[in-house]
Amino acid sequence: MKTIFEKSNGIDGITFTDEDLNIDFISDKFKRTTSCNLPSLSELEVLRHYKELSDRNFCIEKGLYPLGSCTMKYNPKVNELLASLENFSNLHPAQSDDDCQGALELMYNLQEALKKVTGMDSITLQPAAGAHGELTGMMVIKKYFETKGDFRKKVIVPDSAHGTNPASAALCGFDIVSVKSNEKGQVDVEDLKTLLDSDVAAIMMTNPNTLGIFEENVLEISNLMHENGSLLYYDGANFNAIMGYTNPKLMGFDVVHLNLHKTFATPHGGGGPGAGPVGVVEKLKDYLPIPVVDFDGVKYFRNYNINHSIGNVRDFYGSFGVLVKAYAYILMMGENLKKASENAVLNANYLKEKLKKYYNLPYDIPCMHEFVLSGEELKHDFGVSTLNVAKALMDQNTHPPTVYFPLIVHEAMMIEPTESETKQRMDEFVEVMIKIYNEAKSNPDNLLKAPHFASVKKVDETQAARYPDLVYKE
Ligand SMILES: *Cc1c(COP(=O)(O)O)cnc(C)c1O
Repeated sequence: MKTIFEKSNGIDGITFTDEDLNIDFISDKFKRTTSCNLPSLSELEVLRHYKELSDRNFCIEKGLYPLGSCTMKYNPKVNELLASLENFSNLHPAQSDDDCQGALELMYNLQEALKKVTGMDSITLQPAAGAHGELTGMMVIKKYFETKGDFRKKVIVPDSAHGTNPASAALCGFDIVSVKSNEKGQVDVEDLKTLLDSDVAAIMMTNPNTLGIFEENVLEISNLMHENGSLLYYDGANFNAIMGYTNPKLMGFDVVHLNLHKTFATPHGGGGPGAGPVGVVEKLKDYLPIPVVDFDGVKYFRNYNINHSIGNVRDFYGSFGVLVKAYAYILMMGENLKKASENAVLNANYLKEKLKKYYNLPYDIPCMHEFVLSGEELKHDFGVSTLNVAKALMDQNTHPPTVYFPLIVHEAMMIEPTESETKQRMDEFVEVMIKIYNEAKSNPDNLLKAPHFASVKKVDETQAARYPDLVYKE
């Protein structure tokens, strides 16, 4: 497909009047002196260009999107409508508190709702993503210890953790210590005990972990950590696994982040920014970023008066549009948030049981919102790797699962159907997976050449990761 620059044909899509072009009010020093070389096409050709681009893209409205750990569920369109209401979208973040009581009330109520689902005592809505929430949480933990004059250096991270966990802790200057998983795919408590000393600031855990398995020793772990004077960080990116059933506070965690762009039905990445609110227990309240939205009984206000605050982690108060969408989703769902978790877990277990007859399931126990298959046998027996299966799925109008993660499962396929899928859709997915399995046995060569129909064929994965070519050059 040609870029819009290559399609440019000099035809103006829009005609400016002299009045439109009157830029006298701009100071000369800010005016461009050379042409900015924008493409020029008719309105229709521009529309065709973007339609063509969007047709090449995959989205939840097109088909199943079982990308494990990403919670690619349906984001109700009504959320978009509400976020685009003029009274929200035309606000300026520098307006006074008096001017935007409604927006502040919404943020306050969202904080209260997130306190309820996490069990935490205070929330910041500022971080822009899950990983950014982790960084914020780890900064809070670091400052908490520093304020006490206790300069702990180590953070423990399970070997099944999402890569952002060790990265966030390392960015804060902590040394990462890895704790092993046991044969049940859970944190090995005996190994953990050998790692504990007075230099350990915290453990970062995901529960259920990235294998989709609930850490049944979590209470023993939180007791061990607290006895050691350490804190517990909860990666709550995929909160649809437990929402309404339990919460990180009950499991003994001190800090938690949520991904509004996963669990709370706001778009990921390409749909705009995300939001990774962070909740903390009472003793960490005074370390949160400023401002926190507060209420004095009469007025909502942005509170900058936070004793040991780590400062700003983002301009103003975060991705407001995302907050509106998530709040709309929460109000719409109410008590049914619990049902969302129930269906996420039910769907994952349904798929797991159907697929394990064909693909190897290394940890064969009930899962939560996702599960991880291994393509190791397929590779060994027929030479068809997990990557080949993923590419073959693209030919079947299905987004591939997350592959080669978590690292502790060889040839991993991490599948998360989410609560939005129906039994019919999941059955179709199972059929496609069986078809690919049978093809691997009977005609592996065809699979090795997949994808046959996707808009982008096989790419050089190493080259693409090491030398991404993202900038258009003439
Ligand atoms: C998605 C995810 C993250 C990171 O969230 P981003 O918004 O992509 O930064 C962290 N941990 C887990 C378990 C996740 O699934």
